[in-house]
Amino acid sequence: MSFEDIPVPIGPVYEGERIRAKQMYVELGGPKMEKHFELCKVVSKKEITDGQVTIHGIDLKDMEEGSTHPIGIFVEVAGPELEVDLEAVFERRVHEFCNFVNGIMHLNQRYTNWLRISKTAVEKGFNSFQLLGAVLIRLYKAELPIIEQAQVTFFTNEKEIEKPYAMAMEIYDKRDERARTIHDEDVDMFYGCVLCQSFAPTHACCITPDRTSLCGSINWFDARAAAKVDPKGPLFEIPPGECLNELAGEYTGVNEMIKKRSLGEIDRIYLFSGMEFPHTSCGCFEAIDFYIPEVNGHGIVDRNYGDVAINGLPFSAMANQTGGGKQMPGFNGISIQYIISPKYQQYDGKSQGLNEGIETVVWMNKGVKDRIGEFLPKDLLSKIATEEEVTDINALKQWLQDVNHPIVETWAEALAEEEEEEEWEAEGAMVPMGTVGMTIPGVGGSGGFSIILKNCKVHAEAIIIKKIGPKGKKKK
Ligand code: SF4
Repeated sequence: MSFEDIPVPIGPVYEGERIRAKQMYVELGGPKMEKHFELCKVVSKKEITDGQVTIHGIDLKDMEEGSTHPIGIFVEVAGPELEVDLEAVFERRVHEFCNFVNGIMHLNQRYTNWLRISKTAVEKGFNSFQLLGAVLIRLYKAELPIIEQAQVTFFTNEKEIEKPYAMAMEIYDKRDERARTIHDEDVDMFYGCVLCQSFAPTHACCITPDRTSLCGSINWFDARAAAKVDPKGPLFEIPPGECLNELAGEYTGVNEMIKKRSLGEIDRIYLFSGMEFPHTSCGCFEAIDFYIPEVNGHGIVDRNYGDVAINGLPFSAMANQTGGGKQMPGFNGISIQYIISPKYQQYDGKSQGLNEGIETVVWMNKGVKDRIGEFLPKDLLSKIATEEEVTDINALKQWLQDVNHPIVETWAEALAEEEEEEEWEAEGAMVPMGTVGMTIPGVGGSGGFSIILKNCKVHAEAIIIKKIGPKGKKKK
């Protein structure tokens, strides 16, 4: 495979490249655009013109510098061994292959895809979607040899994207619908994915029927098909091993997998908890489940929500706290499908005396509620607030009492525990603090060091971390 005719370098070394607003030539899709998508379909050889790239709308060179446009990337592939179950996994490779291009930053997936093309790439001559299409087709055929033919169609026009966008949404819905037909107890194999390790080196998704991947684009069926055709690829089997804790979803096989894939950084995962040994989060998660201490409940915000969530933080600020491959109790990257699993954070819910994990949820942005409302328990649905009902924590507290949300029942116990701890502290007693570790946000792994606090309770008005350099020579 050669990229000599492509004016910018191509290769995995460019994955993880960040293109800031001032460096970008154009932005495609992302939060400012209503309709955008990427989709892969398996078709017959008769329906494909191998190597063909088609552009509906204006090409890159005709876009004004600094502008934002819709983007639809439709990849069609053919080959005798291809099956429909592989479509979602092939589709996820759009992210990886676009990021191979020096000068392209691709984020997210499905209908949240977001690309930036750098000014430098355009100056070097990477000024047409024809070039990006050619790169994608070559990479698809080289990296996945069972793909024999491929063609790519781009949509950059608001009108022309309408129809393929509707088709893509219908296909995503059908995949999600199928994923809801099975549960963890129906299978004897789980699957893992490390496609996001270029952005989050200690992250690996554990994909089970009840826990769709964080990005929402790879369900258990998709992962099974991918691991079967490419066992040495980024998706692989996880034999669950012994179940150590059914409620928490703790398995010896999953613990071994995360220890190996995180290079020893993380050695224990509760699949169904956001508070104890939670699943790691990369940066592609569809939504964030965050703890709201003031009401002892959880909120959910998705990446399409442009305002601040009930805790006063926008999605972007919480995403920084959540992502990067960390295990962060109280901030979890999740897929939308996982919210409607009967096992959703069941360990946290049942540990508090609730009937199920979903009863811990007290707030979610309206976009998420509208999307999954039909799958949630009817009596609970009306008790979950959105931005339309409450806009601050005090109002949320009052709302939860007014609607008699199940979380209110847990307040008395939480208060009693707090008072008991205060009493112990007043007596100057040494109190055992359990086993949960905590990493100070912002320092975990990124600056060449990490601080992990275990079994301790700290109160500080400020934490100052200084790098100690070599001492300079004293002047004579
Ligand atoms: S979020 Fe998980 S499943 Fe999705 S691409 Fe990343 S590692 Fe793979």
